[in-house]
Amino acid sequence: MIKLGTSLITDIATNQIRIETLNNLTDQIARAHEKKHVIVVSSGSIGLGLSTLNLAKRPNEMAKKQAAAAIGQNKLMNTYEKLFNKRNITIAQVLLTKDGILSEKGYNNAYNTILTLLEYGVVPIINENDTIATEEIQFGDNDNLASYVAQMMRAEMLILLTDTDGLYTSDPSIDPYAQKLEVVREITRDIELSAGVTNGRCSVGGMNSKIQAAQRALLHGVPVTIASGFDTSCIEKIADGKPCGTLFIPPGGIFDELRR
Ligand code: GLU
Repeated sequence: MIKLGTSLITDIATNQIRIETLNNLTDQIARAHEKKHVIVVSSGSIGLGLSTLNLAKRPNEMAKKQAAAAIGQNKLMNTYEKLFNKRNITIAQVLLTKDGILSEKGYNNAYNTILTLLEYGVVPIINENDTIATEEIQFGDNDNLASYVAQMMRAEMLILLTDTDGLYTSDPSIDPYAQKLEVVREITRDIELSAGVTNGRCSVGGMNSKIQAAQRALLHGVPVTIASGFDTSCIEKIADGKPCGTLFIPPGGIFDELRR
C-alpha cells in the first residue's frame, strides 16, 4: 500500500504537476505490481485544482478547497490513466469518506470493491471524497486515510512517500546534527516530538500526521515505512525487503523476529 503526498504530485511554487516524478513513481509501482497487489492512495487533487482557479495557495474556505479538489481529482486521474496505460496497467478511482467506511455497510462495500479490483489485477487509486467530506467527519489528511485502508485490507506494508527521506531526530534543514532513524520499534514521546519539529515541508499532513497514521497501522500489525518519493528506487527496495527511509516495526509478530 503506497501513499503519495501532494508535494510529490505538484510543485508547491507553481501548482503544476510533477510529471517526471510521477513517471518515475509509476515505473516503480508497475514493477512492484508484477510481484504484489498494489494499492495507491494519492493526494494532490486540491493542489492541481488551484492553478485552474488561479489561486496561488490553498484557500481556507471549505467550499473553495472542495471546488479545487473536484477539478484537480479529474486532472490527477487523467494523468495516472495515461501513465499506467503506457505500462498496460488498469487503474480505478476509489473515493472514500471517513463516515462512509466507519459504517459497517460502507466498510464492507469498500473492502469488497478494493479486493475485487485487486483480484482483477487493477491498481486502485484512492483519495478522500473531498466534495462531501466536512471538517467534522473527514480523514483530514491522506496519511490517516491510508492507514485506515491499510488496516482494512490487512496490507503487508504501508509506505508513506513524501519529500523527506525518513524521520529525523530533529529538523535536518536547521540542525546539522539531526540523525535519520533507520528503524523504529516503538513510537515514544521523543519520536512524537521529533515529528513535531520536522513538520514544515509537507503539505497537509506533515510528519505529525504520518506518525499518527503509523501508530494506527502498527497497532493493527501493519509495518510502516516513511521514505522519499523522489528516490528513484525506494519502492523497489522496500518491495524486495531492503531498507529505505524509516521503517516502523509493529511489536511482536513474525516481521519483528525476521528483522532481529
Ligand atoms: N484529499 C486532498 C487532496 O487530494 C488532500 C489530503 C492530503 O494531502 O493529505 O488534495
